[in-house]
Amino acid sequence: MPVPQFPLPPSAPIQLLDLRAQHAPIRAELDEALRQALDEAAFIQGPAVQQFALELSEYLGGPHVVPCANGTDALQLALMALRLPRGAEVIVPAFTYVATLEAAAVLGLVPVPVDVLPDTFNLDPQAVEAAITSRTGAIVAVHLFGQCADLEALRAVADQHGVALIEDNAQAIGATFRTSRGEFWVAGTVGEVGTTSFFPSKNLGGFGDGGALFTRDEARAAYLRQLANHGQTRKYHHEYIGLNSRLDTVQAALLRVKLRYLSQWTAARQHVAASYDAALADLQTISVPARDPRSTHVFHQYTLTVADEPGRRNALQQHLAAHGVPSQVYYPLPNHLQPAYQYLGYHAGQFPVAERLCRTVLSLPIHPTLVQEQLAYVADVVRAWA
Ligand SMILES: *Cc1c(COP(=O)(O)O)cnc(C)c1O
Repeated sequence: MPVPQFPLPPSAPIQLLDLRAQHAPIRAELDEALRQALDEAAFIQGPAVQQFALELSEYLGGPHVVPCANGTDALQLALMALRLPRGAEVIVPAFTYVATLEAAAVLGLVPVPVDVLPDTFNLDPQAVEAAITSRTGAIVAVHLFGQCADLEALRAVADQHGVALIEDNAQAIGATFRTSRGEFWVAGTVGEVGTTSFFPSKNLGGFGDGGALFTRDEARAAYLRQLANHGQTRKYHHEYIGLNSRLDTVQAALLRVKLRYLSQWTAARQHVAASYDAALADLQTISVPARDPRSTHVFHQYTLTVADEPGRRNALQQHLAAHGVPSQVYYPLPNHLQPAYQYLGYHAGQFPVAERLCRTVLSLPIHPTLVQEQLAYVADVVRAWA
């Protein structure tokens, strides 16, 4: 291959995630929130936890918000709150982060992977319907990479079959979905329970682990709150078997600051995505991420797909790395082929879309502090390969 001429790499190195740059302009506010939390010394269930829950509720259009320790616990608590019998089936996407399955598996529920759509990477509602049995207790939809799954179709399938819909909204906080009746649904608030994660790399990331649950049902919110706190209904009275899964006060205090910037950061991510789209959409050997016109996209990831030929994707990744552009494969192995889930008895070939995506996806750097010079450089490096 001839060596293409590149513009000089941008002065600042490009990172997949640049939390230091994101925090720099709000550092004084973060320092002040941290100082106050340390001064108050109410480290568990301090006032910032409830304040953050109320502010996040407002951001999401008013659901009850129950903070917890991380996004995986949130999924587990959501399933616990459904009180499904042991062995009940939980439909999950074949292409998602492992936590979506793990939460069901640790409860003795049976994760049932279902294939995803090739364009949006999200659950295929028809495949979901086909997978429903008399043992199905819940569907867990993941709004992967920041775009809503087909919430209207999934809500309808769940209602028609009397099963619960859980939304794993770890990657799509703030995304909305326009229904055929013109209503705007907020991701995470449409299912019986929605969950999210404040893992540092998420769109609303903390300074360690954190998570939350959303529900529009007040009684369910109260139950989730108890489950997340040792099943306790009042101090030292344990009505249920619960978890110790609380959001630290320090995390809540810092997340309150970051929540004030989330809309602005989401807009910056959308700008990055639009810039990549404009520069790369005409390429034949690479596809830019498809947009579902009904959903907003908050671009937790900007994920290309390359032609499904041996070595193609890895060659692009190496080319990018050689020119100082980091990239990542989310996710290299579908969950039904992970060693831990072999006991479920699936084999290669059963979920062809998920399996192909694992061979063909590549995510480019996308974070709110990328500057135009860097975006243009990334696009030029990709174009030189394609
Ligand atoms: C990050 C993530 C989780 C898990 O969240 P943690 O806070 O790391 O436990 C679950 N599901 C999806 C889709 C995620 O991206």
